[in-house]
Amino acid sequence: GRRKLVVGNWKMNGMRSHLAEVEAIGRIAAERPVVEVGLCVPATLIMAAAERKGGAFIGAQDCHMNASGAHTGCLSAQMLAEAGAEYIIVGHSERREAQGESDADVAAKAAAARAAGLKVILCVGESLDVRDAGNAEAVVSAQLLASLPEGAAADWLAIAYEPIWAIGTGRIPTMEAVASMHAALRAALASRIGADEAQKMRILYGGSMSGDNAADLMAIADVDGGLVGGASLTAEKFAPVIAAA
Ligand code: 13P
Repeated sequence: GRRKLVVGNWKMNGMRSHLAEVEAIGRIAAERPVVEVGLCVPATLIMAAAERKGGAFIGAQDCHMNASGAHTGCLSAQMLAEAGAEYIIVGHSERREAQGESDADVAAKAAAARAAGLKVILCVGESLDVRDAGNAEAVVSAQLLASLPEGAAADWLAIAYEPIWAIGTGRIPTMEAVASMHAALRAALASRIGADEAQKMRILYGGSMSGDNAADLMAIADVDGGLVGGASLTAEKFAPVIAAA
């Protein structure tokens, strides 16, 4: 079976004063080695967090698609790897929207991360308009296939399904809708990388996941973990999510 993967995305939150939470989450992760646990922290905290990671891994939230060059303010995957990141999130909806990242950009970033030896969490998800129009599965499947890098394989790539309207809202889809979407995404993966590899690839759910709903969500057959925002910011809130996996 697929090892559950539970990853905190701290987004633009976290100062040095929050490193105690990294340490506490690292201890919880060490006590539950059956689950792969990580924290994607702001780039400014990666080096310090990597020294306190315990049983967790530290990741980044984005990278540039090039290895180096005239890109003021940007960070390459190599730089983030050297700082101590083991994973990178690419294609988060907040970046697709606010930074105008295209599917092709996301695929290029995933390939750049892979070239730097990093593992990747590739995010996809629909807007509320798309959900209400009733074609979320077709739209998100197409988004996934357009964002998938060359050579995508389960040993370095995981998918995160994050309905945009569920992020930070306290609203989540029905369990039936999550199950159906994850099955559709696995079928889309199989069409591109083959059924065997698609069976190995982890598909995470993200969007208002918390200790209250994590057990139900992660009991769904094709849900292989979570990408957790608000509920990953403290060990107290994150612990029940890790325990539910
Ligand atoms: P919330 O868990 O805060 O809804 O955020 C989800 C998310 O965007 C994780 O990447």
